Amino acid sequence: MVSIMRGLTFDDVLLVPGYNGIKSRQDVSISVTLKDRNFEIPVASANMDTVTGQIMADAITSLGGMAILHRFMSIEENVAQFKACTNPRNTGFSIGVGDDGLGRAEALIAAGAGIVCVDVAHGHSKEVNRTIRALRDSFKDNILVIAGNVATYAGADYLAAAGADVIKIGIGPGSVCTTRIKTGYGVPQLTAIMECRKVDRALMADGGIRTPGDAVKAFAAGADFVMLGGMLAGTAETPGETLERSLPNGQTQKFKQFRGMASREAQDDFMGGMKGWKTAEGVSIEIPCRGSVRDVIQDVVGGLRSGLTYCGAADIKSLQRKAQFIEISAAGFREGTPHGIGRLTI
Ligand code: 5GP
Repeated sequence: MVSIMRGLTFDDVLLVPGYNGIKSRQDVSISVTLKDRNFEIPVASANMDTVTGQIMADAITSLGGMAILHRFMSIEENVAQFKACTNPRNTGFSIGVGDDGLGRAEALIAAGAGIVCVDVAHGHSKEVNRTIRALRDSFKDNILVIAGNVATYAGADYLAAAGADVIKIGIGPGSVCTTRIKTGYGVPQLTAIMECRKVDRALMADGGIRTPGDAVKAFAAGADFVMLGGMLAGTAETPGETLERSLPNGQTQKFKQFRGMASREAQDDFMGGMKGWKTAEGVSIEIPCRGSVRDVIQDVVGGLRSGLTYCGAADIKSLQRKAQFIEISAAGFREGTPHGIGRLTI
């Protein structure tokens, strides 16, 4: 019999403040260790063609985060791009399933890469299992395998059993994703993280994070890492040309393209066009240029440091132990957004 579960996401909740004994936000630790790799900041840039190329990878890793190069280029180009990166240890690459995926992994690992992200839209699948097992057969425990995406305990458990080190979570929360509209599937991201947390693996929350506060909630719910796409889009370090557009007022403004990897535009560019049996599950947009990615990361890091002290947590694990969520109403959500103007007068 069909039943209905309950699912919540970032805007449905807030974190309840708790006693703080920590003197300064500078005194908390936000570093995270994944296997034998330490990251000063638990933030990864998304493996999208309009987010992570070599320049973004260098910027994010120099700030202490992880970058995952996108895979929409030949294996040779991918290898050359990886070799040009200044911090190969914290730069990963992504693969799909099948022969291209394993061939790409062999070439990149031979070039010195150690972080592999097996990334498909529906990660709870036999092909992803086969790919992870093949990677483990060939490269044993010498690589960090991130795999996804899933949004359920069963999916996370399946990937853990296949040999993934890090489970990537998110079915449909992405800022340029239309999977939920096109297929009806998805799990609100906060619930997805909490469900997957039951599995004894590191978790990367991927998609739907629009503010530093969303990131704090993702960590509190159980994520060890967050992956950002839309928050980094439009920054100077993203790949792609800058587009100058005329505005209705006669002025011009600079934009950059940001698109879902399952958008019609991306499929036209990389997958030989939209096949007749497919629909796009992403959109392509132009967003105003907005300076350096450093400012975005600083904002996220500042929010996370502050977020730890609001419940007196010295690090992310402690935040997860202490976190108490409260479900809020639409009025509660409105109250938390700037509303200084439009004062109620009676
Ligand atoms: P964002 O941070 O922009 O909210 O989400 C980024 C994530 O959206 C990516 O890391 C990836 O998992 C997901 N994503 C990227 N492109 C597409 C797409 O075309 N369709 C879907 N369903 N998800 C996408």
